[in-house]
Amino acid sequence: MAQLSPTMRALVQPHLVDIEPYDPNFTPTRINLSANENTYPLPDGVRAAIDAALAATPLNRYPDPLSNELRDELASWLGVERAQVCVGNGGDELLFNIMLAFGGRGRTLLTCPPDFSEYAFFASLVETGATSVPRDPVTFAPQVDELVQAAATANLVIVTSPNNPTGDLFPLDAVERLCAACPGIVLVDEAYGEFAREGSSALPLLARHSNLVILKTLSKAFGSAGIRCGYVVAAPEVIEVFSAVRQIYSVNVLTQAAALAAVRARAAYKPVVEQICSERERLHAALSELLVGLPQPGRVWPSQGNFLLARIPQASRVRERLRDEYSILVRDFSYAPGLADCLRITVGTPTENDAVIAALTELVKEQAS
Ligand code: PMP
Repeated sequence: MAQLSPTMRALVQPHLVDIEPYDPNFTPTRINLSANENTYPLPDGVRAAIDAALAATPLNRYPDPLSNELRDELASWLGVERAQVCVGNGGDELLFNIMLAFGGRGRTLLTCPPDFSEYAFFASLVETGATSVPRDPVTFAPQVDELVQAAATANLVIVTSPNNPTGDLFPLDAVERLCAACPGIVLVDEAYGEFAREGSSALPLLARHSNLVILKTLSKAFGSAGIRCGYVVAAPEVIEVFSAVRQIYSVNVLTQAAALAAVRARAAYKPVVEQICSERERLHAALSELLVGLPQPGRVWPSQGNFLLARIPQASRVRERLRDEYSILVRDFSYAPGLADCLRITVGTPTENDAVIAALTELVKEQAS
């Protein structure tokens, strides 16, 4: 495991001595299904609308700190007030900011892993204590009663719906129980919410729970991971906190312009999202059939996101061979607690998915023989 240099270990804050330097080791591949991006082209006309918006944006002025035009567009889409929305430089920035504001030394974050690794990482940066109630080891269902009990002493609870990497939804009645039990803030991370079945978002619960925060992003369904734009929706007094702690110009003018154009064109994304969902089911069926027939059977969990979690014998080796022999990149989770032999595969275009199915069919057969 990489380490900071001895000199830097002596200079950084004591809780950061074991932080790992960023590993830039990245192999470019023909097909990259490792980061849950949207690999489809932008819908017709949307790229042109974004380009026109960018071309019309002056670069010499600082951005509107609060991205008010974008907030208004998001608010009218979601049926909330501008004061209930805060925009960030990707969902990641908002996750860091929530930890900065509501976490910290002597305070605790409650999560239900396996989940998005950045929660624990950002918590550690600001010395937030982490408590967790792990999911059922077989089904990955969250242990709701235990979570609700633990929420009573947490300053911050984060649940993910659909969850990355397990793909399941967090039940809305459980969100309500957490909001009632937790004296602090409850964040529902809906980064993949647009791929989930209708009626699964916690947004309608905002009217009843003033400590609820919902996180969304343009990185997934809107196919715009590169522009770095995410947002949170919550009660105005909670949004005031987000607005107060953020770096004032973190959302640059080009991001604001591109995001506004994308959100205005939201109806055009519907067919893309529908296709990703139908491809997800096709990939799920194909991989299930492949893995169930093995001497040491594997498994693919159902998913409401744009990715699938699959348990494949010798997963790390399979992932390496996919990369080196087929130029296909997927994410290896074998090292993560509870995810032995698990790979996460982003749902790609039909051609990309066909390539994954064909490659895995060969590799898995070879390994079984
Ligand atoms: N939440 C979850 C669960 C994610 O998987 C991701 C990205 N992988 C994010 C939040 C953050 O996304 P972004 O910073 O691209 O908006």
